[in-house]
Amino acid sequence: MSEDFIYYCYRCGAENQIDLPKPKAPDYHHTSITCKSCGDSTHVLISHCPNCHRYVYWIDDISIPDLVNGFGKYMVHNMQALIDRAATQDVSISIDTPDNYPINATCPCGSTVTVELFIPDLD
Ligand SMILES: [Zn+2]
Ligand SMILES: [Zn+2]
Repeated sequence: MSEDFIYYCYRCGAENQIDLPKPKAPDYHHTSITCKSCGDSTHVLISHCPNCHRYVYWIDDISIPDLVNGFGKYMVHNMQALIDRAATQDVSISIDTPDNYPINATCPCGSTVTVELFIPDLD
């Protein structure tokens, strides 16, 4: 069984075989990959099923960690509005800001794989 990561470019359909790091979930590796045939580049978020060692991956034009980062900022912004409103009513709330944003996948072997994206400090 090949250790390389294989994906099919969704622009031109070419098979690309790349040797990528193989962190086990919940660790992940995020990188951009370029199709060797048409030069189209895309982001890949890749991890490994701890049970069967298959690659588990998400491919998109946008960077998923950037998306989570943006979403985290949006959440914090809205929580801050809530906190400000509560403050005017003499109420205090404490909020645990998560450090990780979990995303789940089900591996073909049946295991659930969770990758935890690190959310950078937002302040
Ligand atoms: Zn291509
Ligand atoms: Zn598996």
